[in-house]
Amino acid sequence: MAEIVLAGVAKRFADGTVALHPTDVAIGDGELFILVGPSGCGKSTLLNLIAGLDEVSEGEVRIDGRVVNGVDPKDRNIAMVFQSYAIYPHLSVRENLSFPLQMARLPKDQIAARVARAAEILELGPLLDRRPASLSGGQRQRVAMGRAIVREPAAFLLDEPLSNLDARLRVQMRAEIARLQRELRTTMVYVTHDQTEAMTLGDRIAVLRAGRVQQIGTPRELYERPRNVFVATFIGEPPMNVVPGTVRNGRLVLPFGELALSPAQRQRIGDRVDVLAGIRPEHWSHAASPAGGADSGTAFDATVELVEWLGADLYVHFSAVAAGARFPLIARVDPALAVARGSRIALCVDPARLNLFDSRTEESLSETQPARLD
Ligand code: ATP
Repeated sequence: MAEIVLAGVAKRFADGTVALHPTDVAIGDGELFILVGPSGCGKSTLLNLIAGLDEVSEGEVRIDGRVVNGVDPKDRNIAMVFQSYAIYPHLSVRENLSFPLQMARLPKDQIAARVARAAEILELGPLLDRRPASLSGGQRQRVAMGRAIVREPAAFLLDEPLSNLDARLRVQMRAEIARLQRELRTTMVYVTHDQTEAMTLGDRIAVLRAGRVQQIGTPRELYERPRNVFVATFIGEPPMNVVPGTVRNGRLVLPFGELALSPAQRQRIGDRVDVLAGIRPEHWSHAASPAGGADSGTAFDATVELVEWLGADLYVHFSAVAAGARFPLIARVDPALAVARGSRIALCVDPARLNLFDSRTEESLSETQPARLD
């Protein structure tokens, strides 16, 4: 078990690329901590700095209170699992699991006990004498996890471990990793570019962009109180709709209509005239539904451009046009509604659910201090 602390950690590569600007992160003992962000944002760099595969340019990495700058990866008591799970094709599953322990010169009986325990946790028992070639992608991934588990490390570092698997298997392995982490209670740092994986797995998530941490919080904090437009649109699927708005006499003029702002919202907006308004797809309601009553904001008419019916969800794509610009929008509505492409639908937004952002800095104007849930 281990607490992992990065204090002012930065990484500049020899060619001058700044992969990570000075960053402070404290990952709790036993926490499942996610690093998420688009390609090139510095997720793998941050993980490699914890692992010791790269050296920090600035700052300090501490694992369980010990500064590990300059400490060899093998002496950091951590285990890594990569996307390309390195398992030996010519060895059986049992031999693959035993290998790191033989390298560490553990006594035979201890190796057997640890392999048996890992095999039990990962349900690899019946596969122990097979070679990787005769295993499915998910089973190979479990062997790779097993090789990390047998070492009984203080922390697991996982870099996109599921991205080679097909969609169904990914969902299944995601659940297995969550279960595994709960059972072992070992600190886990998990890199992904997939926001769904981040939201479903993480105790807390750090969203990165261009080498800077944008926000750290629980999945719920990031979803409900994003600190800026980047986090607001990165977290959530389909993404939050963001449109420009103009404040006039306490009312917010949006490309599709006007909404009355609450005194608290007016106070936070201050004397700004231009803002950005974020609306989650589920914060639209159909004007004729009970949720779409008179106090849910102004109803307006939209022409349905595309309908995505997923059984439990119904997404309606439409657009608003203002000042010659077109804004594509998505609303999630009651899947029982009969809507067809080309038909008209009356939608409204509850102004209280709006996320407002400064149009210049794109920082949130809403309350970003998370409400404590625990
Ligand atoms: P991906 O999801 O594509 O793996 P990432 O978020 O993990 O991306 P990193 O691999 O951490 O991103 O890379 C961060 C930045 O540092 C990128 O701009 C990358 O091109 C750059 N970078 C990574 N390794 C090196 C290197 N050895 N030398 C120079 N630049 C590098």
